[in-house]
Amino acid sequence: MNIDFTTATFKDFENIPDLDMMERASIYYDFLDYMKSNGHRYRLQNNTGCSSVMSVTAGNATKEFISFVTSDYLGFTQHPKVKQAAIEGIEKFGAGTAATPLIGGYYSYHNDLEEKIASFFGRKQEEAVIFTTGYTANSATLQILLQKEDIAIVDMAVHASVYEGCILTNRKTFPHNNLEALEQILKTSENQYRTKLVVVDGVYSQDGDTAPIEEIYHLVKKYNAYLMVDDVHGVGILGKTGRGTIENTGLLDKIDIITGTFSKTFGNLGGYVIANKKLTNFIRFQSRQQIFSATTPPPTATGIIKAIELIDEEPQWRMKLWDNINYFKKGLDDMGLDTGTTCSAVIPVKIGDPHITGDVGRLLLGHGIYTNPIIYPAVARKDARIRMSMTATHEREHLDKTLNAFEDIKNKMHIAKK
Ligand code: PMP
Repeated sequence: MNIDFTTATFKDFENIPDLDMMERASIYYDFLDYMKSNGHRYRLQNNTGCSSVMSVTAGNATKEFISFVTSDYLGFTQHPKVKQAAIEGIEKFGAGTAATPLIGGYYSYHNDLEEKIASFFGRKQEEAVIFTTGYTANSATLQILLQKEDIAIVDMAVHASVYEGCILTNRKTFPHNNLEALEQILKTSENQYRTKLVVVDGVYSQDGDTAPIEEIYHLVKKYNAYLMVDDVHGVGILGKTGRGTIENTGLLDKIDIITGTFSKTFGNLGGYVIANKKLTNFIRFQSRQQIFSATTPPPTATGIIKAIELIDEEPQWRMKLWDNINYFKKGLDDMGLDTGTTCSAVIPVKIGDPHITGDVGRLLLGHGIYTNPIIYPAVARKDARIRMSMTATHEREHLDKTLNAFEDIKNKMHIAKK
């Protein structure tokens, strides 16, 4: 079996029919060597903590870069009060839980965290379930709620964790944010499946655009379906008080299931599900990932609790983030670069061609700027882009330096809006 390394993506190695696991891994190992020898980077190493300026090792060189690769939107990974809360958590409770929640691994700080995230959304503690990652919050929830008699109807741009959650059930996808296509699927599914659950993201992770939540909600209810919103990239950023994409629609207490992460705005690790108490208790005591797997360790839980409080206590971080987003996006737009339909802290510079996108990423590194070139299969083959996450810890000088670098690269490479 020959794979053309010059055009291959990691998806090509997922399954190769004639090769056993060792042979497949071996070809993949050769591919990684090929990538390396051609100057491609597949993983850089950050040597300092998460920040808007990071020491990064690329190949043999270690340098300081202005970073746009983390989702530490409000800078809470380094907030002194969050760090202090984590230290107090470890001092009071130790390092880990050493058991799964149902057999001795459920502690008072888990209860406190459930209560804190539930009340953040105006709910009671019982209406929140916490998971070790946002990925698991999505995949475990879908896996336990939907079976072969049911259907998940998903926007095609949802996160990989949603797709994984659908492996035990039926799934139909609709083109991104296309309400006619969604309605068509809802109509044809109406009497065919037991449960119909529509799944969308609040903010989409590659384009930074939002779902039209109100319209989707009304459609879903018209056809007696349920709605799940993964708002990983919206919470802490959007909404009058930072409750996310749903807040300004007034539907926070009406969406059937809201899922999220503690690894972005809250600067830590973990995931959560907010729903009606009957659903949350079903997930809590039935999902295999809850029953057979340990959950959040003490410093993580106590750090997250402080980070949640800071959303209300220190709204200045959200204000600064928005100043940065508006300033930077305007700079890119004025230059004639294509930032698509973003309305969040995720800003793509859409280039199209994956090879040119890779080159732009490398040139940016040369300017001391660390971004993520995103290519297929994360986005469509001809929709490659440089993806940047803005944070409240970026300073004007970081943004100006990056805009100047884009100007220079744009002129050199003749990049223009299509
Ligand atoms: N949903 C979306 C939209 C995401 O972008 C991510 C993270 N990339 C996740 C879920 C998973 O979150 P976590 O990193 O906490 O597993």
